Amino acid sequence: MIKVVVVGIEGEINLGFIIRLCKNFDVDELALVKPQANVWSEEVKRFAANGVDYLYSGKVKIYDNLEDALKNMGISACTSAVIDVDGGDLLRKAVELERFIQIAKSYTDIAIVFGRESTGLTREEIAKCDLLVHIASNPSYPVLNLSHAIAIALYELYKELNKPSLIEKMDKVDEELLSVAEKYIVELARIVASDERQREMFSMAFKHLLRKSSLSRSETGFLVTFIRRLANKLAKCV
Ligand code: SAH
Repeated sequence: MIKVVVVGIEGEINLGFIIRLCKNFDVDELALVKPQANVWSEEVKRFAANGVDYLYSGKVKIYDNLEDALKNMGISACTSAVIDVDGGDLLRKAVELERFIQIAKSYTDIAIVFGRESTGLTREEIAKCDLLVHIASNPSYPVLNLSHAIAIALYELYKELNKPSLIEKMDKVDEELLSVAEKYIVELARIVASDERQREMFSMAFKHLLRKSSLSRSETGFLVTFIRRLANKLAKCV
């Protein structure tokens, strides 16, 4: 499934456009986390145009927090115009949209998260996603309008996910197994890190590594066994 998550949306015109887009590109769920705009206003419906029935389809859901909106998703990407290019800010290390879509193709449940018009996503929110995605645009003004950013992402996803491919069908990423691997990595990081910040950085670097590599089920299986044994042995030593 494809889930579009929008955090703290402020504008009714944008929301109308986004609802229309969700119908245009057959999105399975539009998750609104703490919307600031009035979801049921006339303005929203006017800009949703003939997509307005999407609003009543049961596919628009409202959440209190991002964590709940991301529950049970196989892979999640936060999006931002603000990324780290040459510094050491792991949280803002991003992949380009095309690359994310190539990765996401191997997953069944995909969430893509967008931020507020005024301030985007907070660092705490970005940390809850598996990856950060950037849409290539003029470096001197890379900030797109929220609904435009969603349109670009959905068009690209729509094109790519509707292409039949044998490899992706047979060898999907095992999303549950991957989250087990990540749990053991956090465990390992806890043992070897010298402080909380380093633990977070170790975990994040491995999370990015696992998510960028689109491992198959059998590869992930061996990796989980390896990391689990490592974590257990190390736990016995310390
Ligand atoms: N002033 C805000 C701008 C937010 S734009 C900020 O500094 O972040 C609203 C949302 O549109 C962003 O949170 C992001 O989800 C999306 N967006 C805008 N431009 C983008 C880009 N170039 N790449 C990816 N997402 C973008």
